[in-house]
Amino acid sequence: MKEFGIIGHSLSHSFSKKYFSEKFLHEKITGCNYTVFPLGSLKELPALLHTHPDLLGFNITIPYKQEILPFLTDRSGIPSGLEACNCIRISGGELIGYNTDFIGFEQALKPFLYIERPSALILGNGGAAAAIRFAMNRLAIPNKTVGRNIIKGIDLTYENLDEKIMASHLLIINATPLGTYPNINECPPIPYSHLTSGHVLFDLVYNPEKTLFLQKGEEMGAVIENGYRMLVLQAEESWKIWNKA
Ligand code: NAP
Repeated sequence: MKEFGIIGHSLSHSFSKKYFSEKFLHEKITGCNYTVFPLGSLKELPALLHTHPDLLGFNITIPYKQEILPFLTDRSGIPSGLEACNCIRISGGELIGYNTDFIGFEQALKPFLYIERPSALILGNGGAAAAIRFAMNRLAIPNKTVGRNIIKGIDLTYENLDEKIMASHLLIINATPLGTYPNINECPPIPYSHLTSGHVLFDLVYNPEKTLFLQKGEEMGAVIENGYRMLVLQAEESWKIWNKA
């Protein structure tokens, strides 16, 4: 049996197991298993690898995409300048790190790049935000990272988001977990009243389908997109990596 899976702290929000189990079924892929491995801390990773010698690859989700980096024995699959890993291939005992989030995001964002000279606000500064920032820079889209406090890597706080900043940043990406089931009444504290029909709101969260962030954007006429397409695209990229000859 070829084993694949996902590690993360709390995996009740993860659609990956369902996605891969259905993929195996629909595409008649036999002899493969995709398992959810909740880890209280990455200190548990060596024991997990020891007890699962057939593991060929796994995804990494919240909150370990950055913390996993020192565990990699090979970082050649992660472009330089991107300090986050969401996919590992195990080969000959080596843990080879990749990032498929930025690829999934770039592809999922394409239909929304009709905005003339867009600038973006990235809400959050974790592992997913690092991939979004990397993709934005590759696409030459000027971007600012918004966080709760001005610390390293944060350009603006939520309190800094006034009408002028909102008007000059038509792409807004939620890369925080705010609004994820069951906390569906939460949303990033941006001034929603300054949104217009010229804005595009992209939420990395995909459960629920329409988060409060997206609902509030839609009420102001903004174009909205959830994280499901990105999830599928990054999962398919992971699958290609695990099946490389
Ligand atoms: P992470 O590394 O734990 O980072 C989470 C970020 O959210 C941090 O910057 C954190 O800010 C911020 N945050 C958390 N609670 C907040 C709050 N109450 N107010 C404001 N900011 C808050 O997580 P991640 O791996 O980047 O994942 C973030 C989200 O993206 C998750 O929901 C994940 O499921 C989703 N995601 C989706 C896809 C997809 O394919 N659709 C791919 C990747 C990730 P502090 O630093 O201030 O704590």
